[in-house]
Parts: sequence; structure tokens; C-alpha cells
Amino acid sequence: MTTPEQLIRPEILAMSAYHVPPASKMVKLDAMENPYRLPTALRQQLGQGLGDIAINRYPDAGYGELKGRLRRIYNLPEQAAVMLGNGSDELIQILAMGLARPGAKLMSLEPSFVMYRMIATFCQMQYVGVPLREDFTLDIEATLATIEREQPALIFIAYPNNPTGNHFPAEHITRIIRAAKGLVVVDEAYEAFARDSFLPKVTEFPNLLILRTLSKIGMAGLRLGFMVGAPAWINEFEKLRPPYNVNVLTQYAVETLLDQIDVLREQTEQIKQARMQQVERLATLPTLTQYPSDANFILVRVPDAPAVHAALKVAGILVKNLHGAHPLLQNCLRLTVGTSEENQLLFDALKSALMAMD
Ligand code: PMP
Repeated sequence: MTTPEQLIRPEILAMSAYHVPPASKMVKLDAMENPYRLPTALRQQLGQGLGDIAINRYPDAGYGELKGRLRRIYNLPEQAAVMLGNGSDELIQILAMGLARPGAKLMSLEPSFVMYRMIATFCQMQYVGVPLREDFTLDIEATLATIEREQPALIFIAYPNNPTGNHFPAEHITRIIRAAKGLVVVDEAYEAFARDSFLPKVTEFPNLLILRTLSKIGMAGLRLGFMVGAPAWINEFEKLRPPYNVNVLTQYAVETLLDQIDVLREQTEQIKQARMQQVERLATLPTLTQYPSDANFILVRVPDAPAVHAALKVAGILVKNLHGAHPLLQNCLRLTVGTSEENQLLFDALKSALMAMD
């Protein structure tokens, strides 16, 4: 009998699956979720509406209603096309599938969202990572030189970046878009918490696509991402989209929540306020370094991240340990911004853990 080892490609055999640690009963500050539930009335409205949906039928595969709502809420340029994915992860995968061919390269900055590299491997694209500087700022000269040398077919730039939380200078991104002969995807997963967006530029550059997700503003469980760009590109990628990739319950729930977007916008504001407060608190810890954040998480460096991570876990708090994930992330932890209470709990536990190490 044939074994998986004989048939599966060696690079897949060598990979580990995307790891999601168990989080039951924990204060969950590891995955950049919105910590707030919906108001009761809205939850009831959703529950009733969801019960009436004909789940025996396939979804509306054109997503007309939902796309119309997204166009209105996000003020998408009329000339641009929009495509929906089962989370933006699916769209990253479709982009790579579309541009994969022998020798084609996928470029990203390092450290950044791990799925760029993983999906390059899935799709047999050659991965090219351009290191950020030690303080996680963009080395524009090295980046432009790499683009010139490697001629990547596909470039992903997370803006703001995950896991570092910072924005790169808009002017540098523009230079990258101009220099690239391939497609540049500006991944704006954290746009709701940021000061800037490339969406208005999408009609200016024919090789620019904007990627967004609804996950970080409060709909992570619904799985909806969308991509905006020139119809010439989007029409090609549509061919690679599995039919019905956005299910009926998600379509309905997202439409309902987009109709009440102010609820989520208010929660986003609260998270931004809480981030400011947490930044101030963290600044009082002498052995901790924090990096500037335009997202709903804060990257910090501590003397011994694995030990601090373990101590937080004992205290019932889950954060992301990035030690070992990349050479530049030695002793780094990524702290999602939660509710004020959660952030206080995290701060107290962090302070005790750091003091115990002094
Ligand atoms: N892009 C970036 C930069 C992210 O950090 C994430 C989530 N961690 C995603 C895309 C994927 O988000 P989703 O699949 O939930 O839309």
C-alpha cells in the first residue's frame, strides 16, 4: 500500500499545521479578536433571522446583496471589482493559485503574516522574504533591490503589519507598487484600528489589490474576507473561487451587522482607547520593550518570553508567544487588546511574572 510519505510532497510533510491552542476558560488575547459580544437586541434579531434561512438551498453565488452592502459601507470605488472569500486566508490562497507557475515567486516582508509563506509552499511558488530592520521598520532600499533581482509575481504587504503592529511609510509602499512588475496586495486586515489605507489608491495603480477582512472588527467566527481591485484581475481570480464559498448563514449575519455598523464602529473605538491605555501601562514596566501599534495588538519584548508566556497561561491568560517564530522575534510576545478588564488582568499578571524574574 502507498503511504502518505510516498505521495505527499516533502515540503508539505515537513510543515506543521497552523497551530491554534485550546482556549476554553482562558482570557483569550492571542488572536486579535474583538472581545465584545453584540448587544442583546441585535443578537435576538440575528437569531430570528438566521432561523428563517433556507439552509437546504445553496447560497446566492453572486453575493449581490452582500457586495452591495460592502460597497456602501466601505465606499469602494465604482470602477473597482470586489471578490469575497471564506476569510481573507482563502483569498490569499486563491491569489497564489492564480499566479503560481514554475519559477514564480511570492515575496513578503519578514516577519509578517505566516500564511503568506505557508500558502506559497502549498501552491509551489518560491517564497522570498525580505527582512525588516531590527526595530521592524521597512528597509526600502533592500526591498526595492529584492524586487528588482527576484521579479516576484506576487507581493504581500500587511499594512499595518502582523505580528509587529506597525504601519510602513505610505510613500515606501507606493515605491514598491511602482517598482513591482507583478501584483502587489496590500493586506489591510487591521485597517479599522489604523490611521491610513491604500483603498483610495486602488484605481490609480493597475497592479494593486486591497485585501480586507471582517474578522478583526467582530466577525471572526463568520469568516468573511474581501478583495478589491481592477476587474481585469478580479475576473481571473473569480475562476479559482470555489462556488458557494460564503455560506448562507454568514451572508445573512454579515448583511445584518453591516446594517448596524455603528455598533461595531463603537466597539472598535473602545478597542483603540483600550490600546492607548495599555500602551501607557506597559511603559511602566522597565524590563519590557513595546513596539508602536496601529492595530488591535501590541508586540512586546521581555527578558524570557517562553517563561512569561507560561506564567500568563498559569494565570489563565492566553497571548501569542513568538519566540522562535523568526530570528527578529526573539523573546517577543503579541498581546491582543481586549476589554479594559482583560487588559488590566494581563498587565497585572505580566508585571508579577516580570518581577519574579528580576
Ligand atoms: N491578513 C493578516 C495580516 C492577518 O493577520 C490575518 C489574521 N491573522 C489574516 C489576513 C486572515 O484573516 P481572516 O482569514 O480571518 O480574514
